[in-house]
Order: sequence, then structure tokens, then C-alpha cells
Amino acid sequence: MTFNDDAQLDTSGVSRGGGGGRGLAIGGGGGLLGLVALVLYMLMGGNPADVQQPPASQSERQAESAGAGDLAAKCRTGADANRDPECRVIATRNSVQSYWRAKLPEASGGKVQWQDTEMVLYQGQTRSACGDANNRIGPFYCPLDKKVYMDAAFFRILEQQFGSSGGPLAQEYVVAHEFGHALQDQLGLLERAQQDPKGPESGAVRVELMADCFAGMWAKGAVETKDANGRTFMAPLTETDVRDALSAAESVGDDHIQEQARGRVSPESFTHGTSEQRQRWFMRGYETGDLNQCNTLQARDL
Ligand SMILES: [Zn+2]
Repeated sequence: MTFNDDAQLDTSGVSRGGGGGRGLAIGGGGGLLGLVALVLYMLMGGNPADVQQPPASQSERQAESAGAGDLAAKCRTGADANRDPECRVIATRNSVQSYWRAKLPEASGGKVQWQDTEMVLYQGQTRSACGDANNRIGPFYCPLDKKVYMDAAFFRILEQQFGSSGGPLAQEYVVAHEFGHALQDQLGLLERAQQDPKGPESGAVRVELMADCFAGMWAKGAVETKDANGRTFMAPLTETDVRDALSAAESVGDDHIQEQARGRVSPESFTHGTSEQRQRWFMRGYETGDLNQCNTLQARDL
């Protein structure tokens, strides 16, 4: 989805994060989108310990902890978001937060308010309260520090390894999905994934499909979201945009990843749902714009 060139971006609440070190980054929330990269790696016979990259050199650490001043300087407008993947991540966060800020009170009769969620936009590797992260692990939400972790380099992996379209909404879907986990945390729903972490009907799969449904809701309402000056962030969605989002959802389906990695599918180890399910739940959110329609925890048919 294209941003309006004159929309004003807000980089507050976005940091670069510190350098990562030893250890393996897996979000404590379980069932994070980023896990697919790790699972893929493990299915291919790798040792998870090998996923970690060597500790950052001192100069890398300094660059990473330099703060987000470079982001504030380069990501000012929607035109920047259309040109630069990191600025697109920031603009998408702006739009997603604007969406939930308006939607949640409306859907709950004023009882629930969106809590602004910080984001660490790292490059290469960083440290989170849930462990160290690198871009092989992918984007994730860490419930222990309540932050979304993104590395725009993951979009290349999504495209080249997972076969997703490289279109803007393919990327924006990933961002909206992670902020969907932040919303689940705010609603107290993330624990289901931890209690029941794998299998075709597991809590993990239900939580993931709900985050896809939330991403669909945002995609539908994004055109109405506005910056601090009241200018709309996004141009209206096109059919190509929707196809891009569905392509990304398809590419991260458990069956697709398992088939690609070892030529067969094992539903008992599903953590995110099939390609078909992920696309369908995205579309359910997109078509209805209704929070209640995203209640995968009680859905009989996933
Ligand atoms: Zn997820």
C-alpha cells in the first residue's frame, strides 16, 4: 500500500537497539512470526546455536547504539516511506497505531484503549528482554519488554527464501501482524500460545491466525488513518496490494515452509497455521473490519 507523499512520519518510540551478543533470540510470547525462520533452519538440519552471529564488533555496537537520530533524519514523510524500507516500517507503525487508537475504544464502548508500543528497528542483531535477535530469526514481539523488533533486511529473506511478493503491503502486513501480537498482549491473550505451543489446532496457531486477522483489519481501515496534521497516511488499497499481502501470508504458512524445507508436511508441529488459513484469516479481518470476527480462540473451524 502506498503512502501519501506528504504524510508526516513520527519516529518517536522507535529506537535502534543495542548490539546483540551470545544466545538465541526467541520471543517469550511463543508463536512469533520470527520463529518460522528458526524452525525452517532447524528443519534443514542446522543447529539452532549456529543461527547466532558472532558478537558485534565494537564499531558495530557503537553504530547500533547510536540511537534513532538517523531514522528521524531520513524518515520524515510518506515519500520517504515509499522509497526506503525502514521508513516504510516506521510509517506502517504510525498507521497501525493510529488505527487501533481509534478502533479499540469504538469496538469496546470506550473500555479498552490502545497502549502505544515501542519498536526497535535494528540492523543485523540486537538484544531484547526475550533474548538476542538477528535478522535470520525475523521480526517478533517481546512481551517481556513490550516492544516490537524489526529488521527491514527480513523483507529480502521473506521474498528470496520464502517466495513472497516484494510489494509494499507484503511488508506492511508483517509489521501489522507483529503489532497484532502487541494488541493480544494488551488484551491478555498471548498466554494461550505459551500454554499450547504446537499442533494444527493449538493455541499458538490460533494466536497467529488472530494476528493475521488483525493485520487484515488494519489493511481495511488504513486509508482512514491520519498523521498529526490530519493528513491521511495511505492511498486507497489496490487489488495488487491485497495480492501482495496474501502472497506474504501464503509464504509464511507452516505447510509451505515445511514442504519447502523437507518435502513433506507435519501438522503436529504447526505453530502458525497453513498458507490457506493465514490468507483466509487476513481476508476475514479485511472484509469485516470486526474485532469479534477475529476470535480464533473460540473458532470451531480454523
Ligand atoms: Zn506472529
